[in-house]
Amino acid sequence: MKKLTPKTHMTIANVLMGAGVVFDLGDMIINGMTLRLWPTVIAVSLVAAGAVWRYTMVKCPHCGDKFKGIHNKLPDRCPNCNGRLDKMPEEQ
Ligand SMILES: [Zn+2]
Repeated sequence: MKKLTPKTHMTIANVLMGAGVVFDLGDMIINGMTLRLWPTVIAVSLVAAGAVWRYTMVKCPHCGDKFKGIHNKLPDRCPNCNGRLDKMPEEQ
């Protein structure tokens, strides 16, 4: 399997978290602004999965830095080792 770049993993994490928020908000709006238990449980699970993904899968392929403090868009180069984040080491 082709390894994904940290930028792709960041996108997956953000999509999971975004989907959770949109899912719960959508359910709330459909149900007259009341929060229901199960949709909220699903939404919280999605957000948690996104957060776990962010902190386990998003790391520098060169030095393993986890980019603490960066929550949205990753820079093109690792702030720690200056390695490229849009390419895996074997592709360079
Ligand atoms: Zn690095």
